[in-house]
Amino acid sequence: MAAGGTIDLHTIRNIGVIAHIDAGKTTLTERFLYYTGKTHRIGSIDAGTTVMDYLDEERDRGITIVSAAASFNWQRNNDDYLVHLIDTPGHIDFTAEVERSIRVSDGALVIFSGVEGVEAQSEKVWRQSDHYNVPKIAFINKLDRLGASFRRTFDEITDKFPQVKAVPMQIPIGMESDLRGVVDLISMKALYFDGEDGGDIRVEEIPEEVLDEAEFSREELISGMADVCDEIASLYLEEAEIPDDLLIMQLRRYVVCGIVCPIFCGSAKSNIGIQPVLDAVIDFLPSPYDRYNCHGTDLRTGKEVEVNVEDQEFCGLIFKLVAGPSADLLYLRTYSGILKLNDMLVNSRTDKKVRVKRILRLYSKSVESVEEVGPGDIVGIMGPSETFTGDTLCAPQRQIALESIDFPQPVISIAVEPKSAKDRDKLESTLDMLCREDPTLELKHHEGTGQLILSGMGELHLEINSNRIQNEFNIEARYGKPRVAYRETIQKPCVITGIFDKTIGDNEFYTEVDIEFTPVKLEQGIEVSVAPIKGKNIPNAWINAAAETLTNGLKSGGNLGYSLIYIKGVVKGIRGLPEKTTEGSVAGAVLNALQKAISEGTTLLEPLMKLEITAPDEVIGEITGYLQMRRAIIHGIDNIPGGRRLNCEVPLAEMFGFSSALPKLSGGRAGFSMEPHGYQEISREELQKATADRGYSFS
Ligand code: GDP
Ligand code: MG
Repeated sequence: MAAGGTIDLHTIRNIGVIAHIDAGKTTLTERFLYYTGKTHRIGSIDAGTTVMDYLDEERDRGITIVSAAASFNWQRNNDDYLVHLIDTPGHIDFTAEVERSIRVSDGALVIFSGVEGVEAQSEKVWRQSDHYNVPKIAFINKLDRLGASFRRTFDEITDKFPQVKAVPMQIPIGMESDLRGVVDLISMKALYFDGEDGGDIRVEEIPEEVLDEAEFSREELISGMADVCDEIASLYLEEAEIPDDLLIMQLRRYVVCGIVCPIFCGSAKSNIGIQPVLDAVIDFLPSPYDRYNCHGTDLRTGKEVEVNVEDQEFCGLIFKLVAGPSADLLYLRTYSGILKLNDMLVNSRTDKKVRVKRILRLYSKSVESVEEVGPGDIVGIMGPSETFTGDTLCAPQRQIALESIDFPQPVISIAVEPKSAKDRDKLESTLDMLCREDPTLELKHHEGTGQLILSGMGELHLEINSNRIQNEFNIEARYGKPRVAYRETIQKPCVITGIFDKTIGDNEFYTEVDIEFTPVKLEQGIEVSVAPIKGKNIPNAWINAAAETLTNGLKSGGNLGYSLIYIKGVVKGIRGLPEKTTEGSVAGAVLNALQKAISEGTTLLEPLMKLEITAPDEVIGEITGYLQMRRAIIHGIDNIPGGRRLNCEVPLAEMFGFSSALPKLSGGRAGFSMEPHGYQEISREELQKATADRGYSFS
């Protein structure tokens, strides 16, 4: 194995760590980094010294905003493995971060709190990872805390995720403050974690007090496996001995294909049960080789292709960007081929050539330059310009656009202005940098007032960013009241001819385009296509210019200045003369058509949220009362263990302040998850309110 270079695929693990906020993800990750020897001291969240939560802002709030990828080595059965841990935030305002870390993970480690159990947000993230078919193992944490229960949490997992077969791999020895160790249900031994940091593992016979429970749980593990695996089933029915290595091998098989989820337990904070989870990452989660191929589009043929770890040509996906004043650091997940230093690649979104000037291994505390990287790996690279999250970098010989990462559109906005006019440039370039890093953050200039308008995914999202501006970049700024980011769509379908007819200097220009506009609810917002244009030989450059101008034009504002959405635009014809038509005049004609379409009338749309609340019976009435006053449509209230789960749709405009209102309504006993859920036409009264108050006030 070349140091830091191309690595045997079977020894790589790309793992997303996902959980509800406060389940202990950061603490567990810190322990991993400690035991694997890449950090020298166990960090503590409470003291604000962790490595993973490296931004000041995260330290203050104790939550993980940016999903940092840290790499470390772990020995298992005398082999050296390279693990890339992709930390993800647990808060709903950062779904884009979750989305992109899951997208590049081959497997996931899900952490539950043994006190709070399966919370709304963990359920959501679990389902998000199902969407990408990411196999999972789970760790029930915090068993040292008052009120913790392994059994209750395990049953809740079985209950809430019936699609997978959850099997216990361990049971705790002792509970709450008496938690002492775990029983390994494969070897049927007790494990204790001695020494100051739990680094010395002592293996003993199972203590009498948990022997019955251990036998019961081992039976559960074996019968669970027998349900899905014929080989285990026949041994089980014969009541024959099941060799450990057979059990481990079959577990791996069924975990990798997403049928089984093994459940581990312990306490990250008390250093109980951590090393076995690292072993489990190696034993049960897929290597890049085990994963099915990645889908993409061949740019030459337009056909869907599969990218395989065995393909020769290089192909990789940028899944994160850390902006710097002079250069950006790009996180690259490699899928095929070998990337060497100074290689020339193509960015398939921009079609531009880019050069890779540095390849870096990103350990949590140190960074190491390497000469090359092979498939299935994660590295940081520097050099490529105009490259952003979601972009594919590929070899010029085989140009592919990998499935990009879907980012939701920002739903709320605030005005930002510097306290002192001299800071305006600095503020703008800082905001620009933050937007480069975060695809769900958007900066615009208000057309009427020239104010800087920052849009994002929620109040907390914008607040975190405004705090970064203050604390990290030392810019004093004022922030307006948050406002809903409304959208507009056209009222009815139309076919419009746009004309560009101008004389500029000595040159005459003339172009006509026909465009069909249709208002339609589209998940991706807008859709632009070019109909097969018959008859005339129309240069590709004109067609591309028309499509590009239309795409960009639709993103700009409608009659009220809000971005357009839910529109399908089809270019049906382009008429020009070789001597009078250029890409520029095609663009001019497209914009003219768009202007005419908009002037026929637009409808205002407001963002809707999908809201899920879990709460005990006694407070559910209070909560429904609150929601009914806020234009919510309640879809259902289900019985769940310990209370009710309420599903509803509610306009975002009604949800400001909800995260602080809910604890008051429920005495702190309710949990919720909320996500963008498209747009709906706004009522006449709401329209009046929205248009009467179009400015961004600072009071
Ligand atoms: P994250 O939001 O999932 O990253 O959670 P953190 O790792 O930041 O932990 C949240 C809080 O729970 C912190 O105060 C931790 O010290 C605490 N915590 C984490 N793991 C444990 C545990 O095993 N036992 C106890 N008692 N507290 C824990
Ligand atoms: Mg954290």
